[in-house]
Amino acid sequence: MIRLQRGRATPKLAACRRKGLATLRAALRANPGEPLEIPKTYNVAKEDLWRAQHGKCCYCELLEQPGHNDVEHFRPKSRADRRPGSSHTPGYWWLTWTWKNLLFACANCNRDHKKDQFPLEHGCRVLKQGQQPPGRERPLLLDPFRDDPIRHIHFRPVFHHKEEHWWPFPRAGSPRGETTIRVLRLDRSPLLDFYKGHVRQYVRPELKRLRRAMRGGNRQQVARTWRELTSELLDVRRPLTALSYDALDHLVPLDERKHWRLVLPPPLPPRR
Ligand SMILES: [Zn+2]
Repeated sequence: MIRLQRGRATPKLAACRRKGLATLRAALRANPGEPLEIPKTYNVAKEDLWRAQHGKCCYCELLEQPGHNDVEHFRPKSRADRRPGSSHTPGYWWLTWTWKNLLFACANCNRDHKKDQFPLEHGCRVLKQGQQPPGRERPLLLDPFRDDPIRHIHFRPVFHHKEEHWWPFPRAGSPRGETTIRVLRLDRSPLLDFYKGHVRQYVRPELKRLRRAMRGGNRQQVARTWRELTSELLDVRRPLTALSYDALDHLVPLDERKHWRLVLPPPLPPRR
């Protein structure tokens, strides 16, 4: 997961919101306590979100097409499982068409794992119906449009049967990192395979080039190679840039970077 910048919403979303909220309020008046049938008109925002997220799932950072994937509601719209903070079930239906509550997520992250989970810090106050976030609510799940996930989750190599795997861990014991990894199962087997393959196929070959330059001893050549490989691997349009960042941080340790005066930048927005 990486920090994302939200662009502008399509004006169509505001029209869908007005109409959708009128429909839901009428349904609540007519049948209080009944489950709401929420129109899926929020899908008008899907392409904009997909572009803002560089064509990637907001959670697992794999490249995905909009087609069979989802507009994800950070605060779940119908029902919300807020454990361990509180387990009230009604969701945040009034945020169904709220731009800042929407993300683009792959079907695996959204439908198989996040579902209606929205854990809160114990003892915090749940938003009241109609109230805009964040209020006094303290989500344990990271929102890549508000938080910098790299400060909460880091990837480290784990050796299993003499093979190198890359695994996400909470950075410095971050409870929000731990919850996000657990809720989204960012350590699920298919992702672990992608992580392993990514470091092997993309990161390590670039580092071979860097090591060659280091052996040559020419500082300018080393700096140039580093610039090239970081702008390639940390370009946010590439998949798994948070993993690339941590793999570089681990495989070219700080002391070595200091020696060669190399700076490791966070994942980089595309050059205009
Ligand atoms: Zn995903």
